Amino acid sequence: MSGGIPTTTFTTKRHDELRESVRDFAETVVQPRIPAMEQSRAVEVALATEIARQGWIGVTVGTEFGGMGLGHLAKTIIIEELSRVSGAMGAMAQASMLGVAKILHFGSDEQKYRWLPSIAAGHCLPTIAVTEQESGGHVLGMTSSARREGDEYVLNGRKVFVGNSHVGHLHGVVVRTGPGSHGLTAFLVESDRPGVYLGNYRPTMGLNGFSFGEIIFEDCRVPWRTGSARRATGSASRTRPACCTGG
Ligand SMILES: Cc1cc2nc3c(=O)[nH]c(=O)nc-3n(C[C@H](O)[C@H](O)[C@H](O)COP(=O)(O)OP(=O)(O)OC[C@H]3O[C@@H](n4cnc5c(N)ncnc54)[C@H](O)[C@@H]3O)c2cc1C
Repeated sequence: MSGGIPTTTFTTKRHDELRESVRDFAETVVQPRIPAMEQSRAVEVALATEIARQGWIGVTVGTEFGGMGLGHLAKTIIIEELSRVSGAMGAMAQASMLGVAKILHFGSDEQKYRWLPSIAAGHCLPTIAVTEQESGGHVLGMTSSARREGDEYVLNGRKVFVGNSHVGHLHGVVVRTGPGSHGLTAFLVESDRPGVYLGNYRPTMGLNGFSFGEIIFEDCRVPWRTGSARRATGSASRTRPACCTGG
C-alpha cells in the first residue's frame, strides 16, 4: 500500500495524515453545512462535488489513472472520518467508491482509461444500480433487461435505492440479458444518455443530503464494445459487470 512507516499494527504515517486531512475537511467544510442540509432535506450536490474534488473517490484507483492508489484501508478511513461528521456524506463517498470497484475489477482497459481518470479527479461520480422494487436481497429476481440490437444494447427497467442516484454521472447498471444465474450483465451508462430518467427525489427519515433514489431506463441505447465483450460473462453471485459502455 502506501509504503509509509507503520504507526499501528494496521496503519502507516500516510494513513494518519489522510485521516487528519479528511477530519479537518469534515469539521471545517462539512459540519457548518449540516443545519441547512437537515432543514432543506434536499440532495447536496455542491458538497458532494467538493468532496469528490479532494480526490478521495479515487482512493483505490491506481496512480497510473491519476488515483491515490492507497487501497481499502485508506478508503475506510475516508468514509469513517466523513461519517463521523455527516452520515450522509460518508454514504455519498461510499456509494461512489462502490461504483469505482466495479470498473477497477471488471472493466475493460478501454473503460478504465476512459473513466477512472475523471473519477479520480472528482469530475465523475459513479454509482451502482442493482436493486429493484421486487428484488433487493434476491438479486436474481431482477426484471430490468437489455436486449441486443445490432451494435447496441437497449435497456429497460427501474432501479431503486441507488446511492448517489441524483448526483451520479455514470451508472453501473446490472440488468438481465439472459436466463438464470449467468444471465446478468452490467453496463456503464452515463446519466445524461437518452432514455435515462430520475424518479422524483423523496427525502427519507435520515441521511439528509444523500440521494438514494430511483433511476428509470426507457429504451436506453448503449453501444456495444467488441473490445470488452469477452469480459461479459455474467455470474449471479458476483454480477460481473461492464461489458458495454456509452459513448
Ligand atoms: C442507504 C442505502 C443505500 C443503498 N445503496 C444502494 C446502491 O447504491 N445501489 C443499489 O443497487 N442498491 C442500494 N441499496 C439497496 C440495498 O442494496 C437493498 O436495500 C438490499 O439489497 C436489500 O433489499 P431490500 O431492501 O429489497 O430488502 P429485502 O431483500 O426485501 O429484505 C428485507 C428483509 O428480509 C430478509 N430476507 C430477504 N430474503 C430472505 C429470505 N429468502 N429468507 C429470509 N430472510 C430474507 C432480509 O434479510 C431483510 O431483513 C441501498 C439501500 C440503502 C438503505
